[in-house]
Amino acid sequence: MNEIIVDESAITSPEELEAFFLNALETDARISPTPLKWKDALEEIDVPTRIVFKRAHATHKPWWDEAVQAVKDAQADNDFIELFVYDDDLDAHDFDLSSELDASQALTALKRGNARYLEASHAHGDISAGTIEHLFSNGQHPYAVIVSCADSRVVPEHLFMTGLGELFTIRVAGNVIDKAAMASIVYACSHLHVKLVLVLGHTNCGAIEAAMEGTHSEALAPLTKPIARAIGDEKDPYVASALNVKAAICHIVSNGELYTLMNNEGLEVHGAIYHTHSGVVDFLD
Ligand SMILES: [Zn+2]
Repeated sequence: MNEIIVDESAITSPEELEAFFLNALETDARISPTPLKWKDALEEIDVPTRIVFKRAHATHKPWWDEAVQAVKDAQADNDFIELFVYDDDLDAHDFDLSSELDASQALTALKRGNARYLEASHAHGDISAGTIEHLFSNGQHPYAVIVSCADSRVVPEHLFMTGLGELFTIRVAGNVIDKAAMASIVYACSHLHVKLVLVLGHTNCGAIEAAMEGTHSEALAPLTKPIARAIGDEKDPYVASALNVKAAICHIVSNGELYTLMNNEGLEVHGAIYHTHSGVVDFLD
């Protein structure tokens, strides 16, 4: 995934934006826009390209919204473009920890968090004493269940830049959903009223590789057997990871209680792949 990050605080005029975009399209999206205008050049993008607009409230420019709209319009006609817009005013506390987010708001919060993560050098989710006290007094209202691998590089709270009380996280190598994991998901969705479940696979997953190679000890079988069933004889590790995520989603929606919540309460189940080389989370739908 190529990425173009447009930082409003660093760009002062429409001319600068034009120059920035033409350069970025050439170097990051690998197209030669000359002599096109950047807005016209967007339709030429033919490799997956994420365009991130970082809005700066303190120095907000009148032409900014028009630029964002141009990318939105281009995105409607070009599947290779993925657009993210987020505010520099929004930190980990950009919502009330006491309120419930619906599935679409939760998905937006995760996408925005990952966009922040790509620019960050340190985690900055809220772990303050005030939040500990708030969550103790008011109880937890996480907005997403994340089912991810136990891999030390794939830490949901970091890669979505979240603090305490935001994510209900279930981590098992290979994001395999056993009975206890399923019960955890049911608990979060039915008792904590979480409206979004995200199954998060990742590239370079040791559990997937072990299942593909088939040369592992019997002790690993509880992980590798369900993965092997999910991926069949797929040889491409990325596709295998995506198949494993999709199998987990099918497993989740086959649960009667969760199925009912999907039909009656707006619960949604989504999948994504985390790229261990870049930090990007690719949402699969
Ligand atoms: Zn893994």
